[in-house]
Amino acid sequence: MAEFDVDLFVIGGGSGGVRAARIAANYGAKVMVAEEYRMGGTCVIRGCVPKKLFVIGSHVHQEIEDAAGFGWSIGQVSFDWATLVANKDKEIARLEGAYTTNVEKSGARIVKTRAVLEDAHTIGLAAGEKVTAKYILIATGGAPNHGPAVPGIEHVISSNEAFHLKELPKRIVIQGGGYIALEFAGIFAGYGSDVTVVYRGDNILRGFDEDVRKHVRTEMEKRGITIITGCTVAKVDKHGRDFTTHLSNGSSIASDQVMFAIGRHPNVKGLGLEAAGVAINPANGGIQVDGWSKTSVDNIYAVGDVTHRTNLTPVAIREGHAFADTVFGKRPVQVDHATIPTAVFSQPEVGTVGLTEEEARAQYSHVDIYKTDFRPIKATMSGRDTRVLMKLVVDGSSDRVLGCHIVGDAAAETIQAIAIAVKMKATKADFDATVALHPTAAEELVTMRTPTARHVRQAAE
Ligand code: FAD
Ligand code: NDP
Repeated sequence: MAEFDVDLFVIGGGSGGVRAARIAANYGAKVMVAEEYRMGGTCVIRGCVPKKLFVIGSHVHQEIEDAAGFGWSIGQVSFDWATLVANKDKEIARLEGAYTTNVEKSGARIVKTRAVLEDAHTIGLAAGEKVTAKYILIATGGAPNHGPAVPGIEHVISSNEAFHLKELPKRIVIQGGGYIALEFAGIFAGYGSDVTVVYRGDNILRGFDEDVRKHVRTEMEKRGITIITGCTVAKVDKHGRDFTTHLSNGSSIASDQVMFAIGRHPNVKGLGLEAAGVAINPANGGIQVDGWSKTSVDNIYAVGDVTHRTNLTPVAIREGHAFADTVFGKRPVQVDHATIPTAVFSQPEVGTVGLTEEEARAQYSHVDIYKTDFRPIKATMSGRDTRVLMKLVVDGSSDRVLGCHIVGDAAAETIQAIAIAVKMKATKADFDATVALHPTAAEELVTMRTPTARHVRQAAE
């Protein structure tokens, strides 16, 4: 009789767990996956995919406004939130089905239940059943933070609820200045809501390049989004269907919804980590792992948001794949977490890869900056007051391009391709040797000849 019921038990049917389960099963392992909510996880069910669908739809408003300059006269238009939500739900249900089928086709078995660790080799399922496993992969993802419990917090929604609102709010207050806050600010504003963003620091998108932060804020404000910085939400009152949000600066805002997008925490609570001996990383509250995604227990691994490393879907997928290759494929693979491209699907969009100017100047003694800020061709006829930002951060000593930052239409698509060059350690000379493709915005990235700033740190005496 086999020593264990399965070779691999995966807790969590999201981006990382699904990839690991499928690859391990392809290598011949007997695999079971537990999912307590819906197969596909955050990205598919209430993250990247529905968010991108909402973003795409919300752009239509701007397209209609811009059309007049190109000769179009578009009559009375209307928008129906309920149709948007219903069509999005249909697509998400289709994807959930595809994820389920693909896992089953690989030979792995799905159990639709919560699973918790009982010891290093035993998993307890909600119905009381127990399963033993040679290896366990924890891929339980993360969940929205609610922050300090301000009075009225029970009235506040997170991104989870934002995908299922019955009505489009006429006015919404969103607290946070990161990915989710800015993406939803653009979504709601695009569909016609009056949006106020409340952020605690001096400017949104902390951690991004300073020029990007300034540019995004200016452009969002031009599109009618109010951004209040240097304060927090202190209290939320509800009167009937209306809310009053009281801010720490003493002012207040009336709205129909209040949303917090103030970060996410790893799903570790009640998971039985202590019973199994799995350690938490004290620095970030995620499960502590080494370069192989192995936890403090030899046969237990963890991937994706639950480790709180880089909380992006392609990273969770890569970590899950590398785990399966390493443990079941006899092909040891470590994930390289350096130079990961990322985009904020705000309006305008941000695409970024590599070092910011500030990071480069801290690490390199000679940094050249190539920066341009221009009116995109479409705006010349649409009349829209908007500008695009493109920036290259270059190591002046080796000529290597260390970072690229774009704000404007198609920034995410552009940065995915530029990320290949940056990952390959392309030099500014390589960029310059590439012939421009005209007329595009991205051609600026290969035609900026003169640095707009040069930072040379003098060697200490
Ligand atoms: P998840 O996808 O969260 O999967 C974890 C799964 O485990 C869940 O399905 C959960 O129900 C299940 N689970 C938890 N505990 C248990 C248990 N005890 N038993 C059984 N099942 C359990 N990333 C991008 O790269 N691009 C984007 O555009 C993007 N947009 C986003 C937008 C939003 C609104 C949000 C919230 C996130 C977004 N992300 C985006 C981040 C991305 O969704 C995550 O990085 C990714 O889903 C992490 O995958 P994961 O496998 O670690 O966890
Ligand atoms: P982020 O970490 O991006 O942003 C959180 C924001 O909330 C920051 O502005 C932060 O401020 C602020 N904040 C944190 N705590 C508090 C508090 N107690 N009171 C007031 N403000 C607070 O998290 P998100 O929730 O936006 O998204 C979570 C993660 O999901 C992202 O980091 C990303 O990894 C992933 N994601 C990726 C997307 C993509 O790839 N396009 C889209 C959406 C999510 P401060 O900066 O001062 O700390």
